[in-house]
Amino acid sequence: MTKIAAVADRSAPGPDTTTNMMMALVYEGPGRRAWTAHPRPTVRDPGDAVVRITTTTICGTDLHIMKGDVPTVTPGRILGHEGIGIVEALGPLVTAFHIGDRVLISCVSACGICDMCRKGMYSHCRSGGWILGNTIDGTQAEYVRIPHADTSLYLLPPGADEEAFVMLSDILPTAFECGVLNGRVQPGDTVAIVGAGPIGLAALMTAQFYSPAAILMVDVDPARLKVAGQFGATALIDSADGTAVDQIMALTGGAGVDVAIEAVGIPVTFDICQSILAAGGRLANIGVHGKPVELHLEKLWDRNIAITTRLVDTAAIPMLFKLVGAGKLQPAKLVTHRFALGEIMNAYDTFGNAAKERALKVILTNEGAGPMIA
Ligand SMILES: [Zn+2]
Ligand SMILES: [Zn+2]
Repeated sequence: MTKIAAVADRSAPGPDTTTNMMMALVYEGPGRRAWTAHPRPTVRDPGDAVVRITTTTICGTDLHIMKGDVPTVTPGRILGHEGIGIVEALGPLVTAFHIGDRVLISCVSACGICDMCRKGMYSHCRSGGWILGNTIDGTQAEYVRIPHADTSLYLLPPGADEEAFVMLSDILPTAFECGVLNGRVQPGDTVAIVGAGPIGLAALMTAQFYSPAAILMVDVDPARLKVAGQFGATALIDSADGTAVDQIMALTGGAGVDVAIEAVGIPVTFDICQSILAAGGRLANIGVHGKPVELHLEKLWDRNIAITTRLVDTAAIPMLFKLVGAGKLQPAKLVTHRFALGEIMNAYDTFGNAAKERALKVILTNEGAGPMIA
């Protein structure tokens, strides 16, 4: 989008307009982060919105960034790509939202008009995609600037449960689009989901839309497997001893699974997935991979299988929105810990020790966000 020198900033008088500073979680290089004062974002491009964050969360991707695995994130960047907030300011070209609207922020910003967006591949938008908390400042702050606001925000219904809806920023559409849709889960299928973290559990929830006959959940953490059992898994496979493939082949009478969903992003979990596919099976990768994997084509070349990869497009958000609104999908069940936004340094420590802390999703609430603007 063309940048213009100055745009009319339709800011409403917020609760703390006396300062142009805010607090934000800033990446300072691998292993280093700070909760620190930072200039408040303003409308820069005419399609922008500035949103005052009320609820945000920490993603596994943020931990990858903290390890230095995501080189596009440079020191000084405010992290975070999931959140809900109140529209505080709008550029002159935004037509779908008003000051004071409570909105869900998509983790993917989409212009809606480039060739990629016209194909529905918003994740590869020419001037957007996954940029929040990556190449532009993100949502783990009191305020965030959202480019392409008309096509990247969703109006929340009155009384919406923010803990449930914030899961639609990223993990629910990611698990559903990259795992369930790309894996083409069908009624009667046998599905294996490797990884019972928040993404794997979200795949478990959304795979059930299609009535698979069996969902085998694989993880090394018995506590996470127990949660998977409560969320509808039909078999729990503890892979800590390295026998996951044998256990799954035994459970399926030697046939393997119709769909294997990779929800971790390391070579060993991808290897489990490629070793358990039935003839005609689909391997749907969700995990963020930082290392190469060995593809066993010598075993797979004649098996009629498909392997898919995808970055979430968030095209499924409107559909998931309806299911959450109707109570048919209850993603707030993934929330295990709650913090005030100002406690985000502690929240990172808790989320970073997920196994010990038994953490799935941590919710951060901006208690100091002040009253909603009428
Ligand atoms: Zn995320
Ligand atoms: Zn686009």
